[in-house]
Amino acid sequence: MPPVSASKRDALDMLSELKELTLLDEGDPQAFRVRAYETALHGLDAYAGDPSKLTLNELQKIAGIGKSTAGKLRELWDNGKVEKLEALRAKHPRSVLELMRIPGVGPKMVHRLRTDLGVTCVEDLQRAVNEQKLRHMKGFGQKTEEKLAHALARRAAMGDPTRTPISVALPLAKRIVAEIAALPGVTHAAYCGSLRRFSETVGDLDIVVAAPNAAPVMDYVVGMTMVESVIGRGETKTSVLTRKGIQIDVRVVSEEQLGAALCYFTGNKGHNIKMRQRAIDRGWLLNEYALAEPNGKVVAQRTEEEIYAALGLPWIHPVLREDQGEIDLAEKGQLPKLVDPRSILGDFHVHTSLSGDGRSNLPDVVAAAKARGLKVVAITEHAENLSLNGVQRDDLLGQRREILELQRALGDSMRILHGIELNIGPNGELDYDAHFRNAFDFCLASIHDRFDLDVAAQTNRVVVAMEDPSVKMIGHLQARMIGARPPIELDVGAVLAAAERTGTAIEVNGGLPRLDATLDVLRAGRGKNVKFVLTSDAHKADELDRIEYAALHAAKAWLPLDQIVNTLPPSELLAWASR
Ligand SMILES: [Zn+2]
Ligand SMILES: [Zn+2]
Repeated sequence: MPPVSASKRDALDMLSELKELTLLDEGDPQAFRVRAYETALHGLDAYAGDPSKLTLNELQKIAGIGKSTAGKLRELWDNGKVEKLEALRAKHPRSVLELMRIPGVGPKMVHRLRTDLGVTCVEDLQRAVNEQKLRHMKGFGQKTEEKLAHALARRAAMGDPTRTPISVALPLAKRIVAEIAALPGVTHAAYCGSLRRFSETVGDLDIVVAAPNAAPVMDYVVGMTMVESVIGRGETKTSVLTRKGIQIDVRVVSEEQLGAALCYFTGNKGHNIKMRQRAIDRGWLLNEYALAEPNGKVVAQRTEEEIYAALGLPWIHPVLREDQGEIDLAEKGQLPKLVDPRSILGDFHVHTSLSGDGRSNLPDVVAAAKARGLKVVAITEHAENLSLNGVQRDDLLGQRREILELQRALGDSMRILHGIELNIGPNGELDYDAHFRNAFDFCLASIHDRFDLDVAAQTNRVVVAMEDPSVKMIGHLQARMIGARPPIELDVGAVLAAAERTGTAIEVNGGLPRLDATLDVLRAGRGKNVKFVLTSDAHKADELDRIEYAALHAAKAWLPLDQIVNTLPPSELLAWASR
């Protein structure tokens, strides 16, 4: 994939914001304008060049972009501001948009809540529910009120809603880092903080930049189109707030200080305290500029490796810098080993456009898998019971023939498995029939609905699915969406025991919105006779790389390599899939 230009990125951001705000404004996902922005998004996303170089007429030649949208795109690139967008932003503040992220709350309901009850934020809604104001409103009733109360409780159980999910923070950070790295004079730019530690949510973005002259970097940061306000601007540090409410702190250091700054802004509090103590024990001081003697003479500062080495330690991977005992292990040479991304030769959860929510066709996905260096790839569409996105038998049989042909052309270079992602019903029932399921090379089974069943029912449906002989792996076990939907309630001990008993593996899903199973489950499974499988759950060819996120997530839980199926050589991968 060629890098996406900043102007295209800005335009995609604008279109998705317009879509969201228009949805709120018109109260109907099927409204003409909402759909127009949606098709324009897909069209622009697929356009390979730099669209900001196109004229108004040329823009309209891109599939999905009409005259009115083309006008807004030119307005964005020419003036940096779009009148219609500004008007919508003024009318629908961020707190109102927040309401739509509550399951069961749609644009129509938001409109009613605003006009009838003056609800403009989540707290208002909680109060209205507590005071039982909704049950008397026409079209709402007690059922709706109870559902909302439950949704709000589940939302609260997810933790701090002001933190940003990694699925939003990481692409944003990568984009800003790439743009800063391209500025003249800049020799290095990196995101640090909890994001570099691969935490599931982040409080703010910490970016460290090495450059001889800080001013151009600071100018750039305050001028980014996403910036809503500047919190503070100093000589070497600037903090801004984005329109989506994310605080970004950018610090510029000299090339010499880079290692010390990266260490300081990456480790969590406990990790950094222990590092400073090691420095003190040796008669030195450690801060964001250097590891130094009391008189100021530098001991180490240029790279992280030099600082760890001076303190008697090997370099510690950022995901491990959580003060969980990693410094003691590092000292003994017993740090948990991480999966080397290049050693991942198999992916067992991949969709194509045959699934309703897939975006790339089979040949493109297979080519991307080959280019990634995979030796085994399982194509696993959604099975028929999933509304809208599920695939019927005939289409799957057609796909099987297509796979056979692609396989012939590939020879021995890569093996394509024809798999399927089954849906786990409320009682553990699965799609199709046993005969049809067994004809696949590989079946995984996942929960895609009924997220609010109680712990006994959820545990039972997973265990029943595991007991089915066709099921080799459970996909995204806890069915959570980070920042949007909490994990389902499960008796983790019972699920792990069933995995040991049946030999069913548990997926480590690398999709950033999911990162599922959760760290808690991975830690609980550590040392048990349970296998875990890193997957991308790609819905587009360029999402196959997400398998590397699964590797980071597994590493964060210290999952041993011998419990990770993907580390096997290709012949054993195939044997595992068809066992
Ligand atoms: Zn799924
Ligand atoms: Zn999937």
